[in-house]
This record gives sequence, structure tokens and C-alpha cells, in this order.
Amino acid sequence: MNKKQFDSAVENVILSYSTEVPGSYIWLPYGLEIRNKIFNKFKSIIKKYGYKEFSFPILVNTKNIERQKKVFNFEENVLYVTTYEGNSKDYYLRPDGIMQISYYVSQILKSKKDLPIKLFNVAPIFRRGRKGVEIPSLLSGQGSVMIEGYGFFASKEEALKELEKAVRMTTKIIKEAYLPFVLVRRPIGGNKPVAEINIGIDVPVDKRTLLAVSLYYHGNIYSKPLEMSYLENENKNYPHMISWGFSERVIGLMLWNHMDEKGIILPPSYAPIKLVIIPLFKKNTNEKEIKEYCIKIQTFLKRIKIISKIDESEGYVGEKIWYWIKRGVPLIALIGEEEVKDNVVTVIIRDIDKKVSLKFDTNIKNEIENILKEYSKRMKERAKTRLKEKIEVINSYESLKHTLKEGKIASIGWCESDDCRAKLEKEFPGEILGVNLLHPFNKEVKCIVCGKKGKEAFFARRL
Ligand SMILES: [Zn+2]
Repeated sequence: MNKKQFDSAVENVILSYSTEVPGSYIWLPYGLEIRNKIFNKFKSIIKKYGYKEFSFPILVNTKNIERQKKVFNFEENVLYVTTYEGNSKDYYLRPDGIMQISYYVSQILKSKKDLPIKLFNVAPIFRRGRKGVEIPSLLSGQGSVMIEGYGFFASKEEALKELEKAVRMTTKIIKEAYLPFVLVRRPIGGNKPVAEINIGIDVPVDKRTLLAVSLYYHGNIYSKPLEMSYLENENKNYPHMISWGFSERVIGLMLWNHMDEKGIILPPSYAPIKLVIIPLFKKNTNEKEIKEYCIKIQTFLKRIKIISKIDESEGYVGEKIWYWIKRGVPLIALIGEEEVKDNVVTVIIRDIDKKVSLKFDTNIKNEIENILKEYSKRMKERAKTRLKEKIEVINSYESLKHTLKEGKIASIGWCESDDCRAKLEKEFPGEILGVNLLHPFNKEVKCIVCGKKGKEAFFARRL
């Protein structure tokens, strides 16, 4: 599926593109319900890992920029708040939470007993867009809601242990979004890096990949210059810091990875409605009898905690079915005279477009639950298959060219030197995503550039 198909599948179903502010969008009630379900699932996982939820303000004082310059300067990328006359620049919109949160920690951290501090925040972020890069709105991350977590620890060992846990946590989250992904240790670039370790989760989308989750071990890079410290035996100590984050683009990725030419496909656990009941009225049918049968089904579904809806709207049956298919409702039940007579429920299973007839008796609870379980399983399987299809083990320059042209992710050997990386990235349209941290695809790991011993790394084009 390409960008155009994705845009038209989500528009007026999940969101509506704002014509007022290009690149932004309005979440529609149906889409918002899906987003809330997904975010609630994510938040419950994060809380299980011991992070406490905070809410920080949207505005940041510009004095913060001077502090921030001690670590890195991104003055150019922030959006200032000015008065109508345009002469005041006292505040800017939060580009992420790092400066606010480290300021807060510098205020509350007094002694070693206050550590570890683990917190997370769900809020929009604002950054100046990257010109010339065309990204579909839900995947841009611009002005979008971000879930960010921060951890502060007394020692490097503790911080690294937590980073490992955070990797497990975010991997779980990505799996809960039914996404194919690679987990990599990303190269640390630039002459003033803000992290000592950077781990990423990349998700294939169309012919490229998109960074879905970032995790960092910052060491003391922030805590020293930003004066986050505590006294221990009259010595000044600085906490070791980690952070991780992902935005609502994860939802966009989930929708994109599972849609088909008819529209979106939702995992049953996130579908606002799991089953829609459409009554079929023909000439001379007993409408009352059919309606009663539909209500009987709905009452039953309510009892087994399956959210359903009877579609009694005006219009043709075909149109109604189409309406719900586009919305990714997992099951559509068609109830006509035949169903009432035979005491059955005819159900269309959205993802495989299959019609099944279920006897409406005591066994139906198990049958529906099984159908939904199989549905989720298929979506997870599809994510796995997609990843396998996307990755190609490459041993030569020539085949790398071909792999990138096909929009795949190349598994290459890389010696981890900056020189070889620079050479590759200059020669080919793409970048090294990082060193593979999960199951190996490639056993032969000689650097594709210099031939020295290396590690398995992924090379692909990024969105
Ligand atoms: Zn090399």
C-alpha cells in the first residue's frame, strides 16, 4: 500500500486532514476511540515497568534555551510564542520533554535516596518541519502526541540495566501494535553526541522504514551541565540518565501495515466495535421478527463482553457492509429471514473476507471468542511474515543496489567504523539503521565495505 492509498483509507474514518494548518489533522471520534484504546494498553505496560505518569506544561521558558545550549543547540528547531505585535519571545512550545524534565529533576533531587526517578509523560510536541520531506500526516510526528519516559539512576550499571528493561518494554509495545520491526543499536553520530548508547526500533512502511521508538543511555551528558546533582559524603554526584520515546505515529504504522485495498483492518482488542449486526429486510419479510432476533444476539454479546452495534440506518445492505468494512470492524453479522428460521448467525470475517454460519446456541460464545483469537493471531503472523519478506541478506555492492531499489531492508556486515558507514551512505540512497540486536538473519558478517570482521547491520531507506 502506498501513501495515497493510506491517506484515503484513514481520511474520514480515523481522522480528517485539517485544511487550516497543513500537515495537521483532526482525530474523529472513531479514530480517537482507537487511539485511546491503544494508548491505554501502552500506558498499562509502562506503569507495570515502574514509571509514574506526570503531565508537563506545553510552554517552556526561553531561559531554558541558554541551559540547553550547554548540551546541544536546537534553537532553530523550536517554535516561539510571540505577542500579536511579534516582539516578545518569552516562551516556546515544547519540542520534547528533555529540558523540562531535567529541570524538574534538578529541583527535586537532593540525596541518593531520591533515586531512582522513573517518570513518563504523554503530551504533544512541536518542532519545525523538515522541508522537502514528504511524509503522510499521521506518520510525520509533527505536533503529534508523544509518550516519553525518563529514568535517573545512581550508577551506570543500574541505568544500563534499566535501558535493557526499557528495550523489552518498548519491544512489547511494538508487538502489541502488531508491527513488524527490527531492533538495532544505532550509530552515534555528530561531534557532540547527546547519548552514549542509542537503540532504535524501525518499522517497514511501503518501500522504506520509519523509526518508531528511540531509546538512549545519556550517561552524565545532561546531568552535569544541567546541574542535576546530589551530595553524598560531601561529594557532588550526578545521576545517570536514560530516556525513551515514541509518538502516535505508531498508530499510523499499525494502520498502514495491516490495511488492504478495502480499508483499515483493526486488531479486535482495539476495535471500538467488534461486531456489527446488519438486519436484512426483503419484500414481505417479518421485520419485527428479524429485529427481535438481532436484539437477542446483541444482548447475548453484551453478556460475553463483546461490544456490538445493530446498524438500523436507512440504505442498501451492500452500502452498510462497505461502510463497516472500511472502518475495520472485525466481524459483520448479517441477519435475515433465513438466519431467524435456522437459528444461526451469519458472520463475515473482515481480514480474510470469509463468511461463516454459526449456530446460535450455547456453543456460540466459544466460537466467537475463537474467531477473534484467530484473528489477532493472524495479524501477528502477518507482521512476522512481512518482516521476513522485507529483509534480504546482502554480500555485495551490486545486490545492495538491487535490494534498495526493491524497497527492502538489506542485512549487511559492518565493521562499525564511521568511515565504512560514510562510504556506504554516500554511495547508496539509504542509511545504516544500526546493528541487529535480535535474532540473526545473516551468519556471514564481514564488513561489506572493507572486508574486516563485522556485525550484522541493517541498511535501508528511511522515511
Ligand atoms: Zn568496514
